[in-house]
Order: sequence, then structure tokens, then C-alpha cells
Amino acid sequence: MSHGVADFDLVVLGGGSGGLAGAFRAAQHGARVALLEPGELGGTCVNVGCVPKKAMWLAADLAQKVALAAQLGFELPAGLPALDWPAFIAFRQRYIGNIHQGYQRRLEAAGIALMPVRGRLQGGGVVACSNGLRLRAPQVLLATGGRPLRPDLPGAELGIDSDGFFQLQAAPARVALVGAGYVAVELAAVLQSLGSRVEMFVRGRQLLRHFDADVTAQLLEDYAQQGIRVRFSHELRSLHGAAGAVLLRDAAGHDEGPFDQVILATGRRPNSDGIGLAEAGVALDAAGHVVVDDFQRTSVEGVHAVGDLTARVALTPVAIAAARRLMDRLFGGAPDARLDYDAIPTVVFSHPPVGQVGLTEDEARNRHGDAVRVYRAGFRPMLHALADSPQRSLFKLVCVAEGEAGASGQRVVGIHLLGEGVDEILQGFAVALKRGITLADLHDTVAIHPTSAEEVVLMR
Ligand code: NDP
Repeated sequence: MSHGVADFDLVVLGGGSGGLAGAFRAAQHGARVALLEPGELGGTCVNVGCVPKKAMWLAADLAQKVALAAQLGFELPAGLPALDWPAFIAFRQRYIGNIHQGYQRRLEAAGIALMPVRGRLQGGGVVACSNGLRLRAPQVLLATGGRPLRPDLPGAELGIDSDGFFQLQAAPARVALVGAGYVAVELAAVLQSLGSRVEMFVRGRQLLRHFDADVTAQLLEDYAQQGIRVRFSHELRSLHGAAGAVLLRDAAGHDEGPFDQVILATGRRPNSDGIGLAEAGVALDAAGHVVVDDFQRTSVEGVHAVGDLTARVALTPVAIAAARRLMDRLFGGAPDARLDYDAIPTVVFSHPPVGQVGLTEDEARNRHGDAVRVYRAGFRPMLHALADSPQRSLFKLVCVAEGEAGASGQRVVGIHLLGEGVDEILQGFAVALKRGITLADLHDTVAIHPTSAEEVVLMR
């Protein structure tokens, strides 16, 4: 310490997925690390994102399975059992509490200085903390994440966002979900399965417009079968009414509702304000994301950024992978280490889930024209067929013909899966796609029967 400044090798702003991963990896390489996090450890993913969402998804999954069980001859008490939300939330929060404790233990064991303060860049590698302390390090990692973005519309305060969803203590009777991205699509089926009547209001013409159009069309059918109503081309202009009876007004002045809850799932914004970025000269894009190059470097020497604070793919494992490679480069003697952002697999936890890795058919056709070959398998998964439930799966392969004739000359460039279990199935096939497999490699693989997954190696 000199002149009231504590020296470290690395100061990390933000203790979410990216910041923690960076701090742990740097400490593993022997760096002296300070981690600044004024809130709960784990950031969005652990506290108001992936983890509590997956818990609610699992509850919804059980509710759907109980309904199927009743159809298949299980004798259940009259009417389907309803979820006791407070009881379930206690399990959910206990699980999250265990994650917090695990992080605390690991930080202590790694010798990382955890400070429950906000940090602000001051230039010259100095970070001012909200408790008055000043830290100095040759390397700074910005990993302050993002937060929900509400549309700038009159009455928007009458709605809640995804953070507010995790405060709910019961399924609201009538729910309007605005948006058609990951959050809207996921929460729609969770709430519908747990007893709400859900309507989605979508300004475009497709659910999940960055996903394969055939897959999202089938998802729309599956949602319709579950009773979820989807309104496309809806131009929301305002919310009005009162809490518990909110109306949505469109561009033509037409009202929909009243709804007990309106959930605004209209995207997220980066937490780039209040941390001294402008003063330090860190360049931002128009939406406020920190601009980074392929090596996570910002416009300021020694300042790096990962995760939702940047405009790169906003997924927890991406932030983690980018942060680890960055620390391998800075402290681990691997000067070329960086994350390859190509072919990142992703799953939307809808009911049933959607998974994709690689190019959609449209992207492939734009890039490879007539060389694109598409294979589809539409089927009813066995449990649904047994129960005569209409839910259908759709699997799709996008390939590109490259020279050799037949399947051996067709490289698989996109895998798109909708159906029960695809959240678990996709990971292995993502490895295969990343390794550059051909359609013949899939055909050479013996199927596992009877499963849904076998359809991936049987498509012709
Ligand atoms: P997304 O960007 O995925 O979707 C936002 C949706 O809101 C889009 O449908 C968008 O429409 C719509 N929208 C935006 N503004 C308005 C408006 N003014 N009126 C009506 N509709 C509007 O954001 P999410 O919040 O759903 O998710 C944020 C990110 O978090 C995701 O992109 C993903 O990276 C991550 N995430 C990942 C999950 C996972 O891995 N399973 C789960 C949840 C989130 P349009 O398409 O027309 O722009």
C-alpha cells in the first residue's frame, strides 16, 4: 500500500458469472485479486436469472408431467394439485443460498479480497471504492452485467420485469407478457403451466426471431395447445388502469385486458453507468455497451470487459469462458488465448425447450446459397404419444454440400431442436458441430432407441 492506495494485480468490478470466473482464474495463476460486488454474489444468473428461472421451469415441468400422469391412469386427488409457491420458493432460495456460501468459501480459499462496495474507474489503473478506499492494479476487469430494460411508454411502471417475476408469491390469474425473446417465451409457459392464463404481445411476427423459423412455428403450435394466446404485430403504446387490473393500449387505441400482471420482457441494458467509464475514456456503443475487441480489450489500456456489459452474446457460459481465457492471457502465459464466439450453443427454457447451435437455415442460405441442404424430423415424443397429447417435437439439421457427393460431403452447420429433453441433448451435438462433422458422421453413429435424441442421427 502507498499513499492510501492498495495495490493488486487485478481489480474486478462485479461479482456475477463473468467477474467471479475471471477472479478465480487469475488467482489460480497467482495474481493478487480484489473483487468488488456491492450486492449478492452470482449476479443476474444466480439471483434473478438462470438459476431461479430453471427452478421455476422445473416446477412447471412437474406440473405438466402430473397432468400427463393423470391422463395415463395415475389416480390423483380430484383436480390437479396446485403449486404452493411460498413452499417451492423456500427450496429455490435455499439452493441459491448454498451457491452464495460456496462462492464465499471458494473466494476465501483462493485468497481473493472480496469487497462489498461499488467501484469507479479513476484512470491510471486506480479504482475508487464507495467506502473511500482506493485500489490500484495494472489490469482491471469490468463485469458489471446488465438489468431489465422497460420500454419508454406511458404507464410502464404498471408492469413488472423479470426481476419482479421472481418476487411473485403466486401465479397471477391473467398475465400479459410483452416481448418474444428468451425471457417472454420462458416465463409464458412457466406461468401457464402453474395456473395463469397467459397472453403474449409481440410486436414482430415470430417468437424468438433469432431462432430457426420452422422451429419457432412449431413452438407456437405447442404454445397454442397449452392455451397460451399469442398476439403478433401488436404495437404497444401505453399501459393504464391500476395495479391488479392493467390494460394494454395499442397504436389503434384498442385496449386488451385487464390483466392481474403485465410482465415487460423487452430486453436488457448494460450496467455501464456510474462506474466512471466516460471519465476514464472507455468507449461505449449507442446502447451503452462497453466496446471490446476479440481479446476483451476496451479502448483503454489495461481495462477489459466481459459478459452482458459488452454487446457480445449475453449468456452466462459465454461470460465465464471469455473471462477465463482473458485471465489465461493476462496471467497464465497464454498470449493468444481468447474466446471463439462461433457456434455457441444456446437453449431457451420454453415448454418444450428449444436448442440451437450454428446457423439457422436463413443464415446458411444467405452465406452458402444453393449448397444448403436441410433435413427435418417432426414427431410426437413417446410420453405425449402415449397420453395422446398433441405436443410435437421438431428437429432440424442445416448442412452445406462441399465437394464430395452424398452425406460425407455435407458439413453440418446448424442443429435446431425443439422438444422434451433437447436442453440436455444439445450439448453433445454442439461438440460434434464445433468439430466440423458431416452428415455421414451422424449416419455412422448407432442410434439409442427409443429416445428423441436418436432422431438427430437418423435424419435423411
Ligand atoms: P431479448 O432481446 O431476447 O428479447 C426482447 C424482446 O422484447 C424481443 O422480442 C423484442 O422485440 C421485444 N421488445 C423490445 N422492445 C419492445 C417494445 N418497446 N415493445 C414491444 N416489444 C419489445 O431480451 P430478453 O429480455 O428476453 O433476454 C435478454 C437476454 O438475456 C437474451 O437475449 C439472452 O441473451 C439472455 N437470456 C438467456 C436465457 C437462456 O440462456 N435461456 C434466458 C433469459 C435471457 P424485437 O425482436 O422486435 O426486437
